[in-house]
Amino acid sequence: MEAGDANSRQIDDDGDKSDEEEKEDRATQSLLNKLIRSNVVNNTNQVEVLQRDPNSPLYSVKTFEELRLKPQLLKGVYEMGFNRPSKIQENALPMMLAEPPQNLIAQSQSGTGKTAAFVLAMLSHVDPSLKWPQCLCISPTYELALQTGKVIEQMGKFYPEVKLAYAVRGHKMERGIKIKEQIVIGTPGTVLDWCIKLKLIDPKKIKVFVLDEADVMIATQGHQDQSIRIQRMLPKGCQMLLFSATFEDSVWKFAERVVPDPNIIKLKREEETLDTIKQYYVLCNSKEDKFNALCNIYGAITIAQAMIFCHTRKTANWLAGQLSKEGHQVALLSGEMAVEQRAAVIERFRDGKEKVLITTNVLFIPFSSVCKFCIDVEQVSVVINFDLPLDKDGNPDNETYLHRIGRTGRFGKRGLAVNMVDSQRSMEILKTYERHFNKKIARLDTHDLDEIEKIAN
Ligand code: AMP
Repeated sequence: MEAGDANSRQIDDDGDKSDEEEKEDRATQSLLNKLIRSNVVNNTNQVEVLQRDPNSPLYSVKTFEELRLKPQLLKGVYEMGFNRPSKIQENALPMMLAEPPQNLIAQSQSGTGKTAAFVLAMLSHVDPSLKWPQCLCISPTYELALQTGKVIEQMGKFYPEVKLAYAVRGHKMERGIKIKEQIVIGTPGTVLDWCIKLKLIDPKKIKVFVLDEADVMIATQGHQDQSIRIQRMLPKGCQMLLFSATFEDSVWKFAERVVPDPNIIKLKREEETLDTIKQYYVLCNSKEDKFNALCNIYGAITIAQAMIFCHTRKTANWLAGQLSKEGHQVALLSGEMAVEQRAAVIERFRDGKEKVLITTNVLFIPFSSVCKFCIDVEQVSVVINFDLPLDKDGNPDNETYLHRIGRTGRFGKRGLAVNMVDSQRSMEILKTYERHFNKKIARLDTHDLDEIEKIAN
């Protein structure tokens, strides 16, 4: 598999700017997850399968051989280091590879192996002797499209006759030149242009249509309509596959418009809980006071790794400076860094190269996964809320609190969370968290070394 001539890698931003924040959040989180993960994440939840025709037998596979993939593709799968299908692949692949083609709506997050699943479906359905686009995949952003493109290139490494084109912004194509690549991956606006304005793709010849990250897609204004317009141009027998991490009503309505007569597969996210977390709070008067409390904690217990959340970049920078002066190896993560830089920082932390990660409120979700990975069994890993999490209106944000300190049951080794409380208001907020999760948050006197030592046991 090779990227064809239509491949373009310039970033350009003529997307719609409204809802930009929301888009950045979801799309960036999704991208960070992809950049950081190198394997499927264990998930103990059951896969739920709803078949369009409940009378047809339900197939699932435990090995890739059972799927009777083309040998070139099987080789690609093994070359990628996949030994057996992930949970979602066990169920989704037989459906996606079935004849006649079956439509699918799948709820699955990044980390479940869904990309490899739909990439295998596309590569399996391509006829390499035909030199026109047969599979079309749309992603919400340029970067996400490139990531999926990479998977197509890797998986199809031993299938060089199949070529890939990137329909992303910035690549000026001449009108009317038919492209020969059999698979096209891109963002909705450009794909639509390639189909209608430039007539590079004949949508009537598409056999497999994939819409990835539907929840991120509809968070970006314009993408929903563009996706539906693309879908309407596709022929009746075209296989439609739609993936989304979440399934709120808006996503569901959109999915039903894009995918007629779907089979439905759901693999829920692992729930995080606070059951195995010991939670404390420390009373402080100022940021210097908080820093001293932190030093006292470090002085009393052996901390394998710590993640420290600050409300502003300024505090985060200041704290990083102070901790470095104390001889800590500190990594700083903040919103103004490029996504790749952020991914690199998280990866270094996950690999234990840095012991302290200081970060601002932004993009909390990947951290909880980072935290799960980096626990050292012998030592304690700590999450410090240097500032308590708040939503954008300054109110308690239960979800963020849970994501910062929670663990999934499966990774439920002991954890320690320390909240720095610096005002009457933050005390009230702390109490709200205590009530909401119905878990005691005990006071910790950081001047009492014996007391701190106890919390580590
Ligand atoms: P995704 O859910 O598509 O974001 O995939 C998450 C990660 O899991 C990617 O790094 C994939 O390379 C990896 N992966 C996908 N399928 C498998 C598999 N069957 N075995 C091991 N790793 C996999």
